[in-house]
Amino acid sequence: MSEITVLGIFVADISFSGPKIPSIGETILGKKYNVGPGGKGCNQAIAISRLGGNVSFISKIGKDNYGELALNTLKKNEISEENILQDGNQQTGVAGILVDENTGKNAINVIVGAPTSITIDEINKKINLIKKSKIFLTQLELPKNVTLHCLKTAKESGCITILNPAPASEISKEFYDNIDFFTPNETEAEFYTGIKITNEKETKQAAEKLIKLGVKKVIITLGDKGLFYTDGKEEIYLKASSVKAIDTTGAGDAFNGGLAYGLSKEKNIKECLQLANKVAGLSTTKLGAGDSMPFLKDI
Ligand code: ADP
Repeated sequence: MSEITVLGIFVADISFSGPKIPSIGETILGKKYNVGPGGKGCNQAIAISRLGGNVSFISKIGKDNYGELALNTLKKNEISEENILQDGNQQTGVAGILVDENTGKNAINVIVGAPTSITIDEINKKINLIKKSKIFLTQLELPKNVTLHCLKTAKESGCITILNPAPASEISKEFYDNIDFFTPNETEAEFYTGIKITNEKETKQAAEKLIKLGVKKVIITLGDKGLFYTDGKEEIYLKASSVKAIDTTGAGDAFNGGLAYGLSKEKNIKECLQLANKVAGLSTTKLGAGDSMPFLKDI
């Protein structure tokens, strides 16, 4: 049994880096392309494993070439394959990513594939992993009934639950009630609160609104501006690391992985946030998502 269980998807990230993100109808000549591991859940599991964390990853893939990439990626990152469901009738997920090489910013279209067919019955075969973990981390890339079932089970079993509410999508009150850490980025925070974040005051307002919705602790990640944390009483604001960002794909995942790892090691909240901020900052200095996660020795 692992200290941390991550539930989420694997996708093959096919990314194109060039002088800009083309607008509709435009063709540009880019410079580099890469096919590598992605999917928020898989990226987060890789980040944890590379930090030396003890992590299980639950996911679903197809029996195709990208499914092979998934299994090879897990092996390379010392994450067990035994919690990966494989279905020959489904495709492994893929994501098309366009990266602006000057800013590292991106635009992404994800085809989730196999995980869209995950059911509560399938997940229940792996539920003991969640029940016995200290930390349960998930996102919103899987069917919502499955995600909520796992969050509730984790909470009932005494786990610390982290929901990275991405991609932004409507969730019920029951979700909020079963979340210890809610970790949106600025755009996601706006989606859940209706508050557009352009300064520190609006960041606090959005975080306070999320606490009122029922989550216990909120971390709003602010890209190159860092992050804001509150539990309704304490407030912590951290500036981002000063790094030369070339590709921010997966920065949020690196952050969530770092946070889960810190919590599993029972570090205090400030130490967890500093670690996650550092892991995320470093991840922006390399191309790719899963492949850009730093190792403990880099920290
Ligand atoms: P997401 O990747 O989910 O959109 P953010 O863009 O908010 O999330 O980034 C998550 C975290 O990654 C930030 O809180 C910060 O720690 C780090 N980060 C992102 N962009 C940069 C950057 N340009 N320089 C340094 N750190 C960054």
